[in-house]
Amino acid sequence: MRTKDLTTVDLLLTEIDWLLICDPGMTVVKQGAVAVDGGTVVAAGSQRDLEARYRARETLPMSGHLVMPGLINTHVHAAMTLFRGIGDDLPLKTWLQEVIFPAEARHADDAFVELGTVLACAEMILGGTTTFCDGYFFEEAAARAAARAGIRAVLGQGVLDFPSPDLKDPSRARQRVEAFLDAARSWPPRLRPSLFCHAPYTCGPETLQWVKDLCRRQGLLFQIHVSETQWEVEEIETRYGRRPVFHLDHLGLLDPMTLCAHGVWLDPDEIALLAERGACLSHNVESNLKLASGVAPVPALIQVGVPVGLGTDGCASNNDLDLFSEMALTAKLHKATANDPTVCPARQVLRMATLDGARALGLSHAVGSLEPGKRADLIALRIDRPHLTPLYDPVSHIVYAARSSDVNHVWVDGRRVVQDGRLLTLDVPQLLCEAESVAVTVRSCGR
Ligand SMILES: [Zn+2]
Repeated sequence: MRTKDLTTVDLLLTEIDWLLICDPGMTVVKQGAVAVDGGTVVAAGSQRDLEARYRARETLPMSGHLVMPGLINTHVHAAMTLFRGIGDDLPLKTWLQEVIFPAEARHADDAFVELGTVLACAEMILGGTTTFCDGYFFEEAAARAAARAGIRAVLGQGVLDFPSPDLKDPSRARQRVEAFLDAARSWPPRLRPSLFCHAPYTCGPETLQWVKDLCRRQGLLFQIHVSETQWEVEEIETRYGRRPVFHLDHLGLLDPMTLCAHGVWLDPDEIALLAERGACLSHNVESNLKLASGVAPVPALIQVGVPVGLGTDGCASNNDLDLFSEMALTAKLHKATANDPTVCPARQVLRMATLDGARALGLSHAVGSLEPGKRADLIALRIDRPHLTPLYDPVSHIVYAARSSDVNHVWVDGRRVVQDGRLLTLDVPQLLCEAESVAVTVRSCGR
C-alpha cells in the first residue's frame, strides 16, 4: 500500500511484545499494535497489519511491554482511602457500627470526599485501573476528583433510611438524589451517575423501590450490597420472610442494570434467580476474607451466566485498591474452596477484571476490551523483569505473576495519564501532604 493510502490516526502503539485484546475470544497477539483516534480504538492487532494501514501523528514503540485494556474496579468506596488502617480485625457489624459509621459522621464532608477520592484515583490509575464504580456520599465531590484525575467512573450517590454524612434528614432523600442528578448533567461523558442503596437492611422496601424506579427511568446503574454476611440473611428473613435476593426480586429490583456487591451467602435458588433476571455481581474477595464474611459462590454464578466483575470494596476493608492482587486471590481461593485447580482459570479471572466488569457496570459498549469503536482505555506493563521472564503465557503472567507496580503507561480516552510510572494528571507529593493533614484530625478524634 502506498503511503498516501494510509489512514491517519492520533496515536499508534507499535512493537508491543504481547497485546491482550480481552474480546470475547480473549485474543492474544504477539508483536502487536493499537491504533487510536479521537480517544477511540480504531484497530488492535498485529503490528505488520496495522503499520500497513495506519500512519499516526504520534507513534510510540512499546518494546518490552504488554498492552491490554485498563482494569475495571466494580465496587469501591473511594474516599475511604483516608480511613485506611483504622479498625482492622473486627467483625463487619462491629466494624461498621462502632468504627466506620461514627468516623464518617465526624469527618466525611464534601472536601474530605474529594480529597479521599483523588487519593484513590491516584492509587488506582498508577495500578492499572482505568474505570471504577463508586458508592458513597457527596458524590458530586467524587466526580470533581475523578474529573481532575482523568479516570473513568460510575459514581453512585448513597441512599440510606437513617441520617448519613450528606443528609441529616433521610426524609429528604429524594431531593438529595435529584440535586445530585442535576449536578451530574454537567459532568464530562466519561463520568456517569448511579444510585447506591447501601443494603436491604439499611434501606426499607419503599426506598429500594423509588430509587430503582428512578434508575430505570434514567437508565442508571442501581447498586446495592447484598448477602454480605450470614447475619444479613437472617435479618432479612426475619423482617420480610424471604432470603435477600428473593426479597429484592419481590420488590422488582433485579435486572441487568442492578449490580449486587458481595453476594457471599447466596443459596442455589438465589443464584438461579440472579441469572434469570440478568442481574450482575461484584466479587470483593479480599474484603470478604478480611471481614471473615465468607467466600462468594463465584464458580456457580459464572456457570449459570451471571456477569461477575471484581471489586476491591473500600480501602478500610481490604486495605488497598489493587486489582492485580484481587485477580490472583480470586483465581487461587476458589480452587482451594472447591478442591479443584481447574476452577476460575486465569482467562476467566482476567475477563472478570475487564470485559465482564464492563458488562456488570452497563459499559460493555464502551470499555473492557480493545475492540474497534471502544474508548481507548489502555495500560502498558513492563515485562522485561525477573518475575515476568520468561513469558510463555501472558494471561497467566497477568493473573498469577504481574504486580500493579509493573504498570508503566496508562491512557484513558486516548489521553496519556501515566508515563513511565509517573501520574501526569495530579501533583502526587502535594496530594500526600493534604492526606497527611486530614489524618491529623482523624487521629486527634481517636479516629
Ligand atoms: Zn462495599
